[in-house]
Amino acid sequence: MRIILLGPPGAGKGTQACRIEEKFHLPKISTGDILRRAVREGTPLGLKAESMMKDGLLVSDDIVVGLVEDAVGREECRRGYVLDGFPRTISQAESLTRIDGRRPERVIEILLGSEELARRLAHRRVCRTCGAIVGSEDSPPPGGDGGRCPVCGGALEVRSDDRPDVIRARLEIFDAQTAPLREYYRSRNAYHSLSGNGTPEEVFGRISVLVEGFLGGAAEERRS
Ligand code: ADP
Ligand code: ZN
Repeated sequence: MRIILLGPPGAGKGTQACRIEEKFHLPKISTGDILRRAVREGTPLGLKAESMMKDGLLVSDDIVVGLVEDAVGREECRRGYVLDGFPRTISQAESLTRIDGRRPERVIEILLGSEELARRLAHRRVCRTCGAIVGSEDSPPPGGDGGRCPVCGGALEVRSDDRPDVIRARLEIFDAQTAPLREYYRSRNAYHSLSGNGTPEEVFGRISVLVEGFLGGAAEERRS
């Protein structure tokens, strides 16, 4: 089973991908996390990706597709995985089929209105040391001392692509390049969507019901 989380920046894909990983033991592959780590560590790949990410633009397919290919090939992904942040374009979706076409795929889009997205992104912080994304609930109040990372105690900062003009660019790219994936997956009978409103627990409750259905359906197919 391959689960693809779709949704605009700020919809909560990263948070929900972690929870799916914990509950259903499907490893999470987050291209945003992998790229941010490469930037933090200053690897050659990170140096290439950095300026695109700062401006909220898409990193080139050859970089991102290569990352996903490496991640999917790992032993722990044998049973399946959850993708967060990939595919983001039709061409990336086609690459995914080329990389790993056998596995059934299910897409879950987390829907959220633009006002709530903007509110969440404005509160979001990232840990300078370990890269953990800290959501609005745990965030320090704006104007405070910046707060500390709940994972490692490192200093928190605003993600370089969570500034208002960059957020606008990312939302435009989502509408132009990523939203067409809805039709792409709908026509393959793989598209599902649910509301991203409410607490992370509430959203995860909705996701769990869907994923349990997917896994039940897959087991059924194997038996018949
Ligand atoms: P978001 O909050 O927008 O979902 P992510 O953490 O998924 O952010 O991604 C952050 C940035 O990393 C993107 O704006 C883009 O520059 C780059 N990136 C992540 N995934 C991809 C991808 N599949 N293709 C191209 N660029 C990507
Ligand atoms: Zn940290």
